Amino acid sequence: MAFSDLDKWISQYPLLEKIIKLEPVTWINPYRKKMGEIRSLPLNKRDMQDAEALWKRFAPYLAKAFPELKSTKGFIESGLEEISAFKKLFNERQKGKIEGWLFLKRDDELPVAGSIKARGGIFEVLHYAEELALENGLLKPGDNYEVFDSEKFRNFFRQYSIGVGSTGNLGLSIGIISAKLGFRVSVYMSSDAKEWKKNLLRSKGANVLEFEGDFGEAITEGRRATFADPKGYFVDDENSKYLYLGYSVAALRLKKQLDEQKIKVDAEHPLFVYSPCGVGGSPGGVAFGLKQVFGDHVHCFFVEPTHSPSVLLGILTGKMEKISVHDLGIDNQTEADGLAVGRPSAFATPISKLLISGIYTIEDDELFRLLYLLGKSQNIFIEPSATAGLMGPQRILQTNYIKENNFDPKNITHIAWATGGVFVPKDEMDRFYRRGEKLCEHKAGVVN
Ligand SMILES: *Cc1c(COP(=O)(O)O)cnc(C)c1O
Repeated sequence: MAFSDLDKWISQYPLLEKIIKLEPVTWINPYRKKMGEIRSLPLNKRDMQDAEALWKRFAPYLAKAFPELKSTKGFIESGLEEISAFKKLFNERQKGKIEGWLFLKRDDELPVAGSIKARGGIFEVLHYAEELALENGLLKPGDNYEVFDSEKFRNFFRQYSIGVGSTGNLGLSIGIISAKLGFRVSVYMSSDAKEWKKNLLRSKGANVLEFEGDFGEAITEGRRATFADPKGYFVDDENSKYLYLGYSVAALRLKKQLDEQKIKVDAEHPLFVYSPCGVGGSPGGVAFGLKQVFGDHVHCFFVEPTHSPSVLLGILTGKMEKISVHDLGIDNQTEADGLAVGRPSAFATPISKLLISGIYTIEDDELFRLLYLLGKSQNIFIEPSATAGLMGPQRILQTNYIKENNFDPKNITHIAWATGGVFVPKDEMDRFYRRGEKLCEHKAGVVN
């Protein structure tokens, strides 16, 4: 992009100036529509219910193939926990206060894949496996899906290959489920992807290929190599309807959890949800689902690193997936590897533009401080990316959003979506924790 264009853009979208300087920003989305005003979306509630039905069909298989799913009968879901000790510690160190109730959605503990990618990634591979099995006469509607855990099925799937480009967690989810079903699976990663993630994938039987340079190149190469195989299927994080649907099902489950905990969601008791955002698929799918379930009473916010504000740039400028952070000279370098994505999803971003309430950006140091505070107060240890939502209540309180909507801050239920962590090796987590501790001591009380 020419610099004259950049000047024109900055005058049109003044926020770009701060974004380019890597300053944290909080952006309220002026394009958001009320649910009643939205004519049509590429998916609807029925699609979500069909997706939930697919999970149910596969539950007997999942319970058989993964011992960790036995106790839940093949159901992959995480808890919803109130984190009042964190809220207290955070408020003690803060001028601005978190008001209302604060919960953590524990996708950091999701079994099988250890991150929110267990929702989207596993769903997409199961969907593909079912389609292949039906088309080739191995399966008919009504069969018990335990048959997927058999030599016959594994030998059949061995003819097919699955490819995915990933900074880490998506590769883990796709690699683990694909290898278990018998597919040949290749994960294309940037060479700076975490070593333990590569090793774990190899141990599960996935083929790991590393690429120098930006993660976008790993995706491009992955797509090319996968399509060179006539029986190749590429899981395309930049444009996937199935990943999205898999994520959306979380909303149906969350509704149940809120009901069980007797948490009201209505006009006076809004639900605010803060989701760490990379390409925008997982937060987008979750937001889409929540909007189908709670309508205008849920308010969805995304969080991106100051060095990777891809979805913010896409929506703010209207360029969607046509813009990358590199176009503005932003380097996409962040410790939050789950969020280090330079270009937003083509599928998810236009939908998010209509549904989400806003996006804020956050610095890496802040992620480590939050990681430390959460660990210290709640004994919960999540990966750096996954902490980003914890800043949400304070960041949104600092805008006019709550006042303009006439909400009483005390009546808000906040959910910070913790997106990954349980697979992080202990020594690595210890390093993260100590780094956060040091940052907190260094700048006592300056978590903002
Ligand atoms: C992938 C990921 C996200 C973001 O999901 P996107 O679909 O890339 O937006 C957030 N947190 C963690 C830990 C992740 O792995």
